[in-house]
Amino acid sequence: MLRANFHTHTTLCDGSSTPEDMAQRAASLGFTQLGFSGHMDPDDHMDMDLYRNRIHALQEQYRGKIDILMGIELDTVYNPVYARQVEYTIGSTHFPDVACNRGYEGACPQRSGEGVCEPGDIQEQSRKERPLSVDASPEDLQLLADRYFSGDYYQLARCYYETEAQVYDRLHCTFIGHFDLITKFNDQMHVLDETDPRYTGSALEAMACLVEEGVPFEINCGAVNRGLKKEFYPNSFFLRALHDMGGEILINSDAHQAELLNGAFDKAVKQAMACGFTHTNILVHGENGAVSWRSLPLDTL
Ligand SMILES: [Zn+2]
Ligand SMILES: [Zn+2]
Repeated sequence: MLRANFHTHTTLCDGSSTPEDMAQRAASLGFTQLGFSGHMDPDDHMDMDLYRNRIHALQEQYRGKIDILMGIELDTVYNPVYARQVEYTIGSTHFPDVACNRGYEGACPQRSGEGVCEPGDIQEQSRKERPLSVDASPEDLQLLADRYFSGDYYQLARCYYETEAQVYDRLHCTFIGHFDLITKFNDQMHVLDETDPRYTGSALEAMACLVEEGVPFEINCGAVNRGLKKEFYPNSFFLRALHDMGGEILINSDAHQAELLNGAFDKAVKQAMACGFTHTNILVHGENGAVSWRSLPLDTL
């Protein structure tokens, strides 16, 4: 079994278990590594000082037992100022940057030569209107499509992946969170045909951009764990594409409660192997205290 997770939320953001409960659960599962990754979203802030103090205390308490890492989940809309205060960052797109939407044929502003939009654009806009995310509720997703794209979900998806393509340039994140989060409610709403080239085209282009930049992608078990979706993020089609592009992976539960800390890990390991991967990756503290990647063969898990 995989005994490490780097996408973990707690009561300090939108989780229901305390950091201490999460660490205790990790210990009972025999985890070697546990990474905390609290949100710093426009609508879900943490008190950074409190977060750092609590995680530091756990690092001390579990020293020699579990390697505890202090990360953060940042959104592409955020200026990554907080990244300097933690050991790793998840680069996630919850808010398609509608202010930056330039309607490319594809979804790779870097390749178009236009460069990335400055982070913070959407916050300017959000002073006037509440920023809408793709994962808060089906109602917000519908509102996003209606307000900015005349109800056209494929245009919304293109804008989403255009934002996603910029996540590394904006945040210099350690890995990519839930690549195709825009499909969170799609098993219920059926608003996107996830095999339609109008949808897959911009997603694959964003993926190619990010692979080229050398940033790994997580297999995120969150929606599967909560019974929202049958497929992980990224779905099996994108996961195969990621393998074929030479991308790297890690496996995370995106747990918001201690009981789900390793939820669906065995299924995710099988899925990764079915899509051609032979190894996954974990983050570890080295001798000098620096955090680096370590590869784990999937057939040993
Ligand atoms: Zn997220
Ligand atoms: Zn998360």
